[in-house]
Amino acid sequence: MLPRLLLAGSTAALIAAAPAHELPGKGEPPITALTQRSGGPIDPDQAIERFDHADLRFVVKPANEEIDGIATLTFTARAPMSKLVVDLDRNLGPQAVAIDGKPLPRSAWDNPEGRLTIALPRPVAAGGKVVARITYGGQPHVAVHAPWDDGAVWSKTPDGRTWFATTDEGYGCDLFWPCLDFPTGEPGSVDLHITVPKGLKAPSNGVLEGIDTLPDGRTTWNWHVDHPNTYAIALNVAPYEVLHATYHSRYGNDIPMYYWYLPGEEKQAKALFAEFAPTLDFYETLIGPYPFGNEKMGVVETPHLGMEHQTINAYGNHYRKTPSGFDEIFQHEFGHEWFGNQLTAANWDDYWLHEGVEEYMQPLYGLWREGQARYDAMMLDQRNRIENKVPLVRGKVITEEEVYEPSKGGPGQDIYYKGAWMLHTLRNLIGDKDFYAATRLEVYGRPDPRPGNFSPRYGSTDEFIADVNKVTGKDYTWFFNVYLRQAALPKLIETRDGDRVTFTWQVPAGLPFPMPIEVQVNDRIEKLAMADGSGTLTVPAGAHVVADPEDKVLKYSQAIVDYQAWEKAQRAKD
Ligand SMILES: [Zn+2]
Repeated sequence: MLPRLLLAGSTAALIAAAPAHELPGKGEPPITALTQRSGGPIDPDQAIERFDHADLRFVVKPANEEIDGIATLTFTARAPMSKLVVDLDRNLGPQAVAIDGKPLPRSAWDNPEGRLTIALPRPVAAGGKVVARITYGGQPHVAVHAPWDDGAVWSKTPDGRTWFATTDEGYGCDLFWPCLDFPTGEPGSVDLHITVPKGLKAPSNGVLEGIDTLPDGRTTWNWHVDHPNTYAIALNVAPYEVLHATYHSRYGNDIPMYYWYLPGEEKQAKALFAEFAPTLDFYETLIGPYPFGNEKMGVVETPHLGMEHQTINAYGNHYRKTPSGFDEIFQHEFGHEWFGNQLTAANWDDYWLHEGVEEYMQPLYGLWREGQARYDAMMLDQRNRIENKVPLVRGKVITEEEVYEPSKGGPGQDIYYKGAWMLHTLRNLIGDKDFYAATRLEVYGRPDPRPGNFSPRYGSTDEFIADVNKVTGKDYTWFFNVYLRQAALPKLIETRDGDRVTFTWQVPAGLPFPMPIEVQVNDRIEKLAMADGSGTLTVPAGAHVVADPEDKVLKYSQAIVDYQAWEKAQRAKD
């Protein structure tokens, strides 16, 4: 997902054609508080359901802005089960339910608030299987400002044809299909069968297993994907054109690359497509193998800015150019294949593992392509956006919105920018070799990933800290306690007494913070260990002294605080 700041200037494409009176408006139909929630504490009835497989049939009906679905879900009971509980927006029914092939009477299920409870015809013992066939459908909730809120995005191509997409990272998969709406609710695999009107295409997750043409000219697109993220399953419908090539990985495997784009944009599409291979090479070199090389690298043009849908990344950045020379939205969303889809935070409290790491990948790509100056420029731009109001990690099981939304008490955009600057500081502290080794260990769960020897996994902040400590052989818990678990930044206090200059870390809650710093004294750089949180230098009389001249350490800045306050006041005047 993207920082909300990018909302400005990106909304033009979101404006759908004027709806007829029977079509839902933005934000309609309303959804319950339960459907809006994604993640948080897991319902005990759902915790015992191991989600093995989902077979999802979708019929997309743009004329009515409707979706009909038949979901056949296979679960294994981790403990005895007498009911099956899945999440599904109550606006979509269901209309019928069958268990193990036998239709149930209407009295056997209930979906008052968006959590569908199905009484099983007979109890299932631990280790037993349940196959539920759920027939549902209707007008799915329409997004207001996708991708910052979620739902269906019904739009039109410039020549007036259907252009449809879905997003649900915030509200969750239950907007479109019956699912387990928490990060560890990933099904083992999913088969998708997406039926669309004649002349339209439906690129989606994983591998295309075939396209069936119906007698009336509609087509059904059959896809198979392994281990998708819960919010990864995405419908994309338009009269797309497609670019295709094969990437020869440094790991020896061949990866098919696809870009589905709107007709009439071939020139821009080819320019973006040319970025795919070098971007893959960057991530594969610094982090490790592309996690879904046996499926595809897929990108699809969408009427919203972007989202990291697994193997079918949403792209809607209008081919924007920036001084960095690469498409930062594409590069960001695609990097979520590693940080978000391969490595998934088991709890949204650890959201920075997706967004902080991924936001840091744009300056690192600037460094890779151009060198230090581009990296510095991109980092300094991010630095001005860090707010430090709420800790990045709070040590409790919380929902997506309780992190992403400041109005719900979350750190909001700090998961991006403060996360990136924390990692910048860590990389300077432990060095490139250990930084990338720890990151690799967290992403793959092993130090030596190769295609075929790993699969998508769940991670956490605590695990990442353990990875850093393991790789470095030192205990850096103090570092994370300050940057992740405190809202305020450490402040470097400088005092000068004659020829002595003393630096002291002032840290929230008085926590230990032995963060070394560099100090420029006239034309020399001195290193201060700061082992007990302070250090003193003897300098020539009248020496010019600059602390941390290369800005290697994230720390309090009065200038940035003043700048942000001034900006806010200016905005209030406008
Ligand atoms: Zn993101």
